[in-house]
Amino acid sequence: MPELPEVETVVRTLERQIGSKKIKEVKVCWDNIIANVRPEVFASALINQRLEKYDRRGKFLIFTLTDYILVSHLRMEGKFFIHPLNTAKDKHTHVIFRMEDLELHYNDVRKFGRFYLYRKQDSLTCLDNLGYEPFDETLAGPVLRKLTLKDKMVIKTKLLDQSLIAGIGNIYANEICFRCGLDPLRKSCYISVSKWDEVIEATREVLRQAIEQGGTTIRSYTSSLGVTGLFQQSLMVHAREKESCYCCGSEIIKIRVNGRGTYYCPVCQRRKPLVVAVTGCIGSGKSEVSSYLKERGYLTISSDEINADLLKQPQTIADLAAILGCQKEDIDKKYLSEVIFSQSAAKEKVESYLHQRIYQEIASWIKENEAEKLLFVEVPLLYEVGWDRYFDYNVNVDSRPELIYQRLLENRKMKKEEVDRRLRNQLSLAEKAKRADYNLDNRSTLEKLHDSIETLIRRLEY
Ligand SMILES: [Zn+2]
Repeated sequence: MPELPEVETVVRTLERQIGSKKIKEVKVCWDNIIANVRPEVFASALINQRLEKYDRRGKFLIFTLTDYILVSHLRMEGKFFIHPLNTAKDKHTHVIFRMEDLELHYNDVRKFGRFYLYRKQDSLTCLDNLGYEPFDETLAGPVLRKLTLKDKMVIKTKLLDQSLIAGIGNIYANEICFRCGLDPLRKSCYISVSKWDEVIEATREVLRQAIEQGGTTIRSYTSSLGVTGLFQQSLMVHAREKESCYCCGSEIIKIRVNGRGTYYCPVCQRRKPLVVAVTGCIGSGKSEVSSYLKERGYLTISSDEINADLLKQPQTIADLAAILGCQKEDIDKKYLSEVIFSQSAAKEKVESYLHQRIYQEIASWIKENEAEKLLFVEVPLLYEVGWDRYFDYNVNVDSRPELIYQRLLENRKMKKEEVDRRLRNQLSLAEKAKRADYNLDNRSTLEKLHDSIETLIRRLEY
């Protein structure tokens, strides 16, 4: 099936070769190819219509004429040929558009392609269910994350869903997954915002490159118009079963996913653990969640603990002294918390330095534990520092304000003003609960909390 780059190439080639010619006559040889009007209406409406504009939306070709808009979808095998006048049709020619000095033949061996005709003021209903154009500037990670949050479909298949992103077919979906190091069988609901951003970038890169090279000539859609697509020479995995990966040398594997040939490198695109962030307000019960997860045999790490460890390292102390322009001896927890709770420019520098170091530590911990299925990272200020975009799934420990105060005042012996101040520096309980992919219920008993952790684990095991 021709995909976005091939359709784009066909549209641009037709624009170059036909330009603003006028249609003199239309012959429909196989009626069912015209989808939304009667074939005789189609043929008579187009007489004396001049071609004004050539566009593409997803895999659809859109021709704007004097009074009408003609939309064409090539489906599996549709092809356009430009011939001299009075060229005899062959058995696969289904529509002939005669212009002043040439003929445009539409051929389709499998007859799956369709034409749609609309008056200019009508809405193009055949395009109604199309999703984002890959080059649409509003297409971004957070949008796709939101649209796929509950979607159990594997990413390889999801990329073919024209109602999400329009224009990607099997070849390019395989290539996009490879470029992002994505296991094609990963469920779309476990793709983080930052991973979606990578997917979008890879999509644009692959498609742009393929358009530049005139598409991929595997079954040739563009060659009917004299264009030889060259992107097949740039394919990294598609149709390369048993050949070696250009990046790591492993043998490329072919499997079937939803009936479609799926090619991938088992090393570059190996299955990775789901990395789950656990957040929540101070006193909401995050450490209770972590210890329960540990008991259940899962690996967890805490950004607060990493932070505390980092502050014990001489290198960190030296770096911070340089940032703050003070002596190494001055740096201690009290001094830093004064800086961090002040509104100075130094606060920003210290935080950005520490966040970067903490993130590096988390990333290398994830890498060390890549064989795991699930990994949990406790990040108290997940949303405040904008790290929710990096995790595959974000979980909030939800609790009630009375309980939070009780825990902090009684169990942790904090002063009320201190608790108030800490809570003011965080997003509200309600906001955290709203932003989370899942809320653990710590609003009543410990038993209830454990039940809700078990439900979460069952949901995440995939
Ligand atoms: Zn590889």
